[in-house]
Amino acid sequence: MKKPKQDNIPHPQRNGSGGLDTGPRNIELDLQNPDLLSPPVTDHGTLPNLKFSMSMAHTRIEEGGWTREVTQRELPIASTLAGVDMKLNPGAYRELHWHKEAEWAYVLEGGCRIGAVDQEGRNFLDDVRKGDLWFFPKGIPHYIQALDEGVEFLLVFDDGQFSENATFMMSDFFAHTPKSVLAKNFGWTEDQMAAMPEKEKYIFKGEVPPALQSDKVVSPTGDVPDWFSHRLLAMEPERFPGGTVRVADSRNFKAATTISAALIEIAPGAIRELHWHPTDDEWQYYISGHGRMGVFAGSGLANTFDFQAGDVGYVPFAYGHYIENLGDEPLVFLEMFRNPLFQDVSAAQWMANLPPQVSADTINVPRELIEALPKHKRPLATRNR
Ligand code: MN
Ligand code: MN
Repeated sequence: MKKPKQDNIPHPQRNGSGGLDTGPRNIELDLQNPDLLSPPVTDHGTLPNLKFSMSMAHTRIEEGGWTREVTQRELPIASTLAGVDMKLNPGAYRELHWHKEAEWAYVLEGGCRIGAVDQEGRNFLDDVRKGDLWFFPKGIPHYIQALDEGVEFLLVFDDGQFSENATFMMSDFFAHTPKSVLAKNFGWTEDQMAAMPEKEKYIFKGEVPPALQSDKVVSPTGDVPDWFSHRLLAMEPERFPGGTVRVADSRNFKAATTISAALIEIAPGAIRELHWHPTDDEWQYYISGHGRMGVFAGSGLANTFDFQAGDVGYVPFAYGHYIENLGDEPLVFLEMFRNPLFQDVSAAQWMANLPPQVSADTINVPRELIEALPKHKRPLATRNR
């Protein structure tokens, strides 16, 4: 490992306070978390941990790919949502399965075919690529198969206790059902089932599937009424001076009844404005760039956390927060909520729509500054609003 140069080594000191850290330390982690090592002077007290990196999670390696997860076990505050990062090599399958939680997903790289059949036998089959989403309601069986370029995707489940290692799989179900019962159920002979696996297959190799139309079975009950995929990145974003926002919730993606999301791109130097969420905790996944998030927990408590690609962040319901791009490339991340609607409360919009003297008297700034605030929401901000 390359050692950082002596003058690049950070120490826990600030404005003449603190001191050198010459004892045992992990300098690579200190460099990634400057706001833990030398917090802003506005930080105070101790918040729950609000960061866990996929790179700190145990990886399960299978013959067709790999997977790792950040759930409430890794990040104890994260009770509402859990996330999984999964890679499938070209043609590889994530086996036919279902689970108690709904599944929301975002394709990070490559492409895959996804298929599901609902409780009425109605069909869903689609190919999704980078920037596309899917949503499978709880209990609905589905599978994923990588296309010829392979695929990596983020899965998000609407329960922090979820584990990708504890789903209901077809191979596992059949392996634990007597062959005589399977024979009665399907009308097969035991000889025809001789090669059936004796345990779950989970992620396994396969051939790249044929063109979508030739792979599709026509169900007599038709297709699912609310399509389970959505092109998020292809949507025209809302543009602001500090970056772009794309929201996918039950208003424009009807199937997503329990998870809403926003894909946010913050320009270099800009911030995701001071805000909070009026109903739910926020689960974040950082895709590229780097920055920091300041979180205010009430009662004078505030802590700051640093994020980069592959990190998961979390903000409890109602906690005030901002996210600042500290790099020279866009900071791109997803924010997700266990709610059919994406909702946030903007500090600037709040103040702009109150009698201006009230805020002016409260924070001791000239009334004209309050009057000049934009009355429409601007989720992203630069110095010149
Ligand atoms: Mn699943
Ligand atoms: Mn937020």
